[in-house]
Amino acid sequence: RHDAGARAGTPAISLEQISKAYRSGGEDVQAVRGIDLRIEQGEFFSLLGPSGCGKTTTMRMVAGFESPTSGTVRLHGDDVTGVAPHRRDVNMVFQSYALFPHMTVFDNVAFGLRRKREASGEIRRKVAEALELVELNGRERTKPGRLSGGQQQRVALARALVNRPSALLLDEPLGALDLKLRQAMQMELKRIQRDVGITFVYVTHDQGEALTMSDRIAVMNGGRVEQLGTPAEVYERPATRFTAGFIGTSNLLSGTVAGRSGEVATVRIEGAGEVRASCDAPAGARVDLTVRPEKIAMEAEEPAGDRARLAGTVTEVVYLGSATHYTVRLGDGSEVVVFRQNASDAASAAERGETVWVSWRPEHAYALPG
Ligand code: ATP
Repeated sequence: RHDAGARAGTPAISLEQISKAYRSGGEDVQAVRGIDLRIEQGEFFSLLGPSGCGKTTTMRMVAGFESPTSGTVRLHGDDVTGVAPHRRDVNMVFQSYALFPHMTVFDNVAFGLRRKREASGEIRRKVAEALELVELNGRERTKPGRLSGGQQQRVALARALVNRPSALLLDEPLGALDLKLRQAMQMELKRIQRDVGITFVYVTHDQGEALTMSDRIAVMNGGRVEQLGTPAEVYERPATRFTAGFIGTSNLLSGTVAGRSGEVATVRIEGAGEVRASCDAPAGARVDLTVRPEKIAMEAEEPAGDRARLAGTVTEVVYLGSATHYTVRLGDGSEVVVFRQNASDAASAAERGETVWVSWRPEHAYALPG
């Protein structure tokens, strides 16, 4: 495990009130607006958000390729805000790999060590170890052009890991790979990160990728962090409309709080009915509810018990092999998506145009702040 410079309780990386404005065409573009983040030693941390939300800019400020307009960047507690990239104990991996095409795999990986004038025996040992880690031993003499995209990305990884930085920054590193290979590499990256115990900061706009790989995710929007949490926290308990919609399907229902008992409120959805949901807004407040597709049951008969329930009509059926996705239009015109696993004992499927009841446990629907 890499713990050089680590002090007990000190985050590997901290960003304190970081902002970045670019001057572009005579105007200021606010790329990052006052971000605070603490990333722990050994954590797999993702910055997730749509194009232009400031992920890359944030990452480049950690690496030192960009300097913040205001705020402080710390590595293991030390202020590195004004420190040059090569003097920071971090490496960056890019989507484009940025390998030297005329050099062999060995020379690509050895490049940084040679520049630091390490002894040749030491270089051979470290390169062999790095290539072993990414499972490319035996390909030392190959030129990058003769390798597949996935293999080239492994070389880039080996090169970034060879000097054992305390953190690795990865900017959409799998973006150029096709889906199958990308999924295989996600698992591979996770394994490598566990093996080396280095802090990984991962930039992606792919929510599935962030959910699969991360210990924690910062969901970014418009230069700010919208929500910070574990994959389960941001998926199960989205804090804003943006997070609810960007990660997974939000199934938004707009209504008014009609009454409440404890944590659970009754919300009137005009034209569709009343449902109970987890909500702390006062009576009379307008709220948007979100409920995840797999938390919704769908059946022909009105369910008994204390489940929240609404009637609707199936408008779309999408068969996906292991599951089927149903779109159900409710009385107020809004639509919810329901996921059903196609298990052998599953109840019979609904068809387009059928009238159904959708229902959920009240604590599985959350009111989002306005
Ligand atoms: P993507 O996924 O598309 O790379 P991103 O979330 O990484 O997006 P950034 O690349 O950080 O976003 O860009 C944030 C904002 O800053 C965007 O509006 C972008 O146009 C702007 N921006 C980024 N770099 C520069 C630059 N060098 N000069 C001017 N504006 C820039």
